[in-house]
Amino acid sequence: MPPLPCPRCSTALAATPIGGIAVDVCESCGGLWLDRLELARFEEPDSVLGEALLAPTVLYAMGLPTAESFAGRARLELFRDAFRRHHPLHTISTWGEPRDGQGTASAVDQAIIEQLAALGYIE
Ligand SMILES: [Zn+2]
Repeated sequence: MPPLPCPRCSTALAATPIGGIAVDVCESCGGLWLDRLELARFEEPDSVLGEALLAPTVLYAMGLPTAESFAGRARLELFRDAFRRHHPLHTISTWGEPRDGQGTASAVDQAIIEQLAALGYIE
């Protein structure tokens, strides 16, 4: 099967193994693409592929700093040398304590929640 095009920039995606899962990586824009079944494996409660691995890499791809408090690290080897040169890794000590799921939404958050509900994405 020919490589799929990146949904963001149409560059051919490279299947890159991460923990036994072939993740589609765009070496042009840094996109990481997972199909539904691949995503479910990252969400398994005892998976070694969970947020410890995924979060730092996704934050790096988005140009955001990773935290030294993360259990995992950004997988810079997934990205081309040119991408890494133009997007150096930034780290901060922490993104803060995990929320308990009862966080208070800001006015902007509430407006987004209402828009998503109006469009039928959430109830
Ligand atoms: Zn791309």
